[in-house]
Amino acid sequence: MGRPRKRFGQHWLRDEQVLHEILAAANIEKRDRILEIGPGQGVLTKWLVSLAEAVVAVEIDWDLHRALKNQFEKAENFYLIQGDILELDVDDALLSQPEFQHPNKVVANIPYYITGPILEKLLGTIRHPNPRPYDSIVLLLQKEVAERLYAAPGSKTYGALSVRVQYLADCELICPVPAKAFKPPPKVDSAVIRLRPRPFPIPCQNPKLLDQLVKLGFAQKRKMLRNNLKSLIDRDRLNALLEAMALNPQARAEDLSVPSWITLSNQLSNIL
Ligand code: SAH
Repeated sequence: MGRPRKRFGQHWLRDEQVLHEILAAANIEKRDRILEIGPGQGVLTKWLVSLAEAVVAVEIDWDLHRALKNQFEKAENFYLIQGDILELDVDDALLSQPEFQHPNKVVANIPYYITGPILEKLLGTIRHPNPRPYDSIVLLLQKEVAERLYAAPGSKTYGALSVRVQYLADCELICPVPAKAFKPPPKVDSAVIRLRPRPFPIPCQNPKLLDQLVKLGFAQKRKMLRNNLKSLIDRDRLNALLEAMALNPQARAEDLSVPSWITLSNQLSNIL
């Protein structure tokens, strides 16, 4: 096998403990059909293939694709696709493989340079949530992004990404992962997280407006919400809304929980 390719974000996981944390978090049952993104040299794949009903893996690197094909030649429950996960419609790719159905879980140590787009691919967006949501998504990703995903309101790392992702899924930290768990070690620390997509308990009447509010609200993080939103609603009306929601009129975007964002959006949707 050649050298790891930087441009594909290749860092091989070599820590058995982390591997087991990932597998335990995915809680794989015999009937699960797993999607793996970037199987690399197959450390995780090996386990997935032995535990699940089926594994579909997408690997961009032709050399790894060839090596994986050989390594898993005899595994009938394994289907490998060479391609870019961002360009690929996995369900379409499976149409020619009737024995492989839509995967219900995702388990992956993903390439960090496309973390945001991968999250969007798996979860969808506020406006267009993934119409075929996964039961769970367990990812190894860079710590700095992980922290933003499970951040609580008011914390340093809570921002637009936190609201967007938490609107679409419950998010938990499974464990931190030091850079030395990989070969070669990446420049950043990492973490394992688990996402469980679900409809948010408070229905949002106008997802387009919610999306716009979050975008504008966090555009300048240090500013008060009423300043960031002034193109949408005048200060007095917003103050009244915030007060009715038991929020300080001087609140910043980072002070609003996901339920507060939805409530604000629903209220505004009625008056705009
Ligand atoms: N899962 C392996 C490898 C992780 S490194 C392990 O834990 O050791 C990230 C992997 O994603 C590499 O194999 C890389 O080639 C692959 N990859 C990078 N960009 C990709 C893309 N756009 N689509 C699919 N796979 C990609």
